[in-house]
Amino acid sequence: MRARLVAGNWKMHGSLAANQALLDAIAAGVDAVECAICMPFPYLAQGRERLRGTQIALAAQTLSEHASGAFTGEVSGAMLAEFGCRYVLVGHSERRQLYGESDQQVAAKFAAARAAGLSPILCVGETLAERDAGRTEAVVARQLEAVLDRSGFEDAVLAYEPVWAIGTGRNASPQQAQAVHAFLRARVGTEARILYGGSVKPANAPELFAQPDVDGGLIGGASRVAQDFIAICAAAKRKG
Ligand code: PEP
Repeated sequence: MRARLVAGNWKMHGSLAANQALLDAIAAGVDAVECAICMPFPYLAQGRERLRGTQIALAAQTLSEHASGAFTGEVSGAMLAEFGCRYVLVGHSERRQLYGESDQQVAAKFAAARAAGLSPILCVGETLAERDAGRTEAVVARQLEAVLDRSGFEDAVLAYEPVWAIGTGRNASPQQAQAVHAFLRARVGTEARILYGGSVKPANAPELFAQPDVDGGLIGGASRVAQDFIAICAAAKRKG
């Protein structure tokens, strides 16, 4: 059976003091489900110290596709691994939309993460215009195939994040999520974990996580509110 995973994406939020309080609360409250916190780069050392010996994995939000070199401002997979990261987000829609990351660049970052021994969490998802045009499956297949053409998927995680649901308060219905997850499952196989992301909150998490191909969540806004993140993790615990 696939182990559930709940990953919090803190985006560009936080401070040393606020992080410490949030990590303390999450570490004290999360019980018996695998979870990860994707922290901004400067705080990875703080996260490594605080999360040592807990069940909470440290993660980053992106990485360079290059192993090293003259790439000012970039951070390599090896650096993330040295700071204790286990996971790294790859191809988050904000990276694709705001920083112009192409499918090929995302595929290169995915390969770089694996080469550094990290588990990439590959984000795919359609815009509202693409969904309305009936192109959801074509878009997520294109995003995924670019990666699979280049790399295997062992140890990786897939996250279906409809762009129209991120930070909008409008989540995909459990049925909409399950339909896309089942489509993706046919490509990545029964072993791979597929997370749903997009306005997951304590109130909608139980129904989303009850879908057979939803193996947990990628959580943005609610991951910055300790009680909400803890409740979402509790909803991800397998029943029975
Ligand atoms: C995200 O940023 O990946 C995300 C899912 O954000 P939110 O939960 O705020 O929609």
